[in-house]
Amino acid sequence: MMADATTPPIDLTRQLRAHLESLRAAGVMFVPRGEPMTFAPLQAVATSKAVAKPEPPPDPLAVRRKELTVLSAEVAKCNKCDGLFSTRTQTVFGVGPIDPDVAFVGEAPGADEDRTGEPFVGKAGQLLTRIINGCGFKREEVYIFNTLKCRPPGNRTPTTEECENCRPFFERQFDIIRPKHVVALGGTAAKNLLNTSTGITKLRGKVYTFRNVPLICTFHPSALLRDETGKMKRDVWEDMKLLLRTMGRAIPEVKKAE
Ligand code: SF4
Repeated sequence: MMADATTPPIDLTRQLRAHLESLRAAGVMFVPRGEPMTFAPLQAVATSKAVAKPEPPPDPLAVRRKELTVLSAEVAKCNKCDGLFSTRTQTVFGVGPIDPDVAFVGEAPGADEDRTGEPFVGKAGQLLTRIINGCGFKREEVYIFNTLKCRPPGNRTPTTEECENCRPFFERQFDIIRPKHVVALGGTAAKNLLNTSTGITKLRGKVYTFRNVPLICTFHPSALLRDETGKMKRDVWEDMKLLLRTMGRAIPEVKKAE
């Protein structure tokens, strides 16, 4: 009942005394003292949830390098082409930096490449290095690879089926590398990239595109090694000048491929 102005105040002392006397009358001689009330300390109330530190974004270049490593491992296990898988020493994936100004694409590994695992390391490779240097690049500044990753026995021309088998690897590699310009070395590489049956002699001298990247076609260095007239070397130099003009780079004065 709510107390109001007319209700007399409750006399607690009197009530307590009357209660104790009734207990004594009932034979209760001892009343234990109650323990003082205690209160557990208030727990701190979390005002906000702990905010997890966000992961730094992955380095895009590191991601692509990893993709390249994964692809290289996949290629190394490939057995799609019976005639190449069973005779190769190893697959030859490619060398050079990611995002190069230019990439050089050959046909397939030869004997030296099959032995070392690196593209263009034999005599043709040495000549390619001179061509690259003649354009004003260091070899390690450009990316070098082949459309096929396994050596055809006896350096025979790869079959259409072998080219088709390996094309997905090449395209994935190309998309990870992302060269700004590309040079196809020889008829097989040029035909493979342009999906054409036109020969290299007719494909030279123009700028094409492969996956939206400017593409120049020229002779394979091994063809230059067989050419005793010197004409092919002059033609290749013309093709390299077309490449350099397409790239917007100055053409070195005298450094022709020998
Ligand atoms: S050439 Fe290419 S597709 Fe054929 S076995 Fe070698 S890696 Fe595989």
